[in-house]
Amino acid sequence: MKILVLNSGSSSLKFKLYEMPSKKVLAQGLVERIGEERSLIHLRYDGPTYESSEPVHDHRHALEILEKIFPRFGILPSFKELGGVGHRVVHGGESFTAPTLIDATVRSAIKALIPLAPLHNPANLMGIDAFTALAPETPQVAVFDTAFHQSMPPEAFRYALPQSWYTQRQVRRYGFHGTSHYYVSRELAKHLGKGDSGADCITLHLGNGASACAVRGGQSVETSMGLTPLEGLVMGTRSGDIDPAIVFYMQENGGLSSEEVDKALNKASGLLGLAGSNDMRSIQEKMNAGDAAAKLAFDVFVHRLVKYVGAYAAVLGRLDALVFTGGIGEHSAPVRRAVCERLGILGIALDPAANEAERSDARAIHAQGSAVDVWVIPTDEEGVIAEETYRLVTA
Ligand code: ADP
Repeated sequence: MKILVLNSGSSSLKFKLYEMPSKKVLAQGLVERIGEERSLIHLRYDGPTYESSEPVHDHRHALEILEKIFPRFGILPSFKELGGVGHRVVHGGESFTAPTLIDATVRSAIKALIPLAPLHNPANLMGIDAFTALAPETPQVAVFDTAFHQSMPPEAFRYALPQSWYTQRQVRRYGFHGTSHYYVSRELAKHLGKGDSGADCITLHLGNGASACAVRGGQSVETSMGLTPLEGLVMGTRSGDIDPAIVFYMQENGGLSSEEVDKALNKASGLLGLAGSNDMRSIQEKMNAGDAAAKLAFDVFVHRLVKYVGAYAAVLGRLDALVFTGGIGEHSAPVRRAVCERLGILGIALDPAANEAERSDARAIHAQGSAVDVWVIPTDEEGVIAEETYRLVTA
């Protein structure tokens, strides 16, 4: 059965077509700059890479173009051949604790959550609506970034704020990157022979966005992102944790509007704010060339990680493993080394050669005798969406 996975952004559409249940990837690509004068279409499949620059008005238009291109390259005769479509949906609030078949009620619920994710849920809905318009009979599934974290206990998800903010405005910790934390913790458990009970671990998803998750017996019990993806770790352009009073301070003394503060915290902070680049590779290069700002950015990034791992180890009480994933987690040996060197108090010891080796498979990188395993596990959010979609449409 063929399953299409869609990740719709406000001006982009990422897609990946799977043969299920084998999880063979038949095609994947991206339509970007949707709505601009010239959009870019990029498609990889079992043949020469296809690239095109042409106007793409909206997400429906993007899907119409894909439906025309796929048969041309022998990828898929028509969308009617799809067994299902899986959508990444960012915010599922408290309504969604698991992947869900989309019907009118589910669509309304995703729409009702827009105030909690004003940038993401509208884009995700555009993808759902665009596909519905083209192939209304094909089952569609929503896989939520927040769902895995719905197992957090109240002491982890509630903020110490007036109760009515929670009861009337749903202000609480939701957490994101749930599909990634779920996947890498599940893969870890399989590697450790704990597939049934689930592992106790701390998973670090370090990409442009970054979050940590404490997992007990395969379930999320604490995570670093909050009401929005702004809280927690230092990210490419997001600040992560700050004193909330900084917001009012910069409004009252820095002459910034609330929109400007919002933009600064989300788009001009993190690695970018500290060192002028949101890219860890470039931070490392500059640091090695003696750039003090880049060194500081790296150190702040690592320091925050060490704080979180220490705190989550205490929350969990016992730990099978620390897991690195995401672009930085999977590829930056210096970040992994710097974090683990400072976690000796947990009995963590790295195997330097295993840490440095550039590999793309799931692998252990701890030294023999380390009290806690350290793993690098490449994430596969689209693969999970394909699996869950397949599971629900064949149930
Ligand atoms: P996204 O969150 O957008 O999916 P990724 O998971 O691809 O992002 O992570 C992007 C980050 O990974 C960037 O900061 C990039 O510099 C970093 N990265 C990728 N490869 C390396 C590498 N070899 N060394 C250090 N950082 C890397």
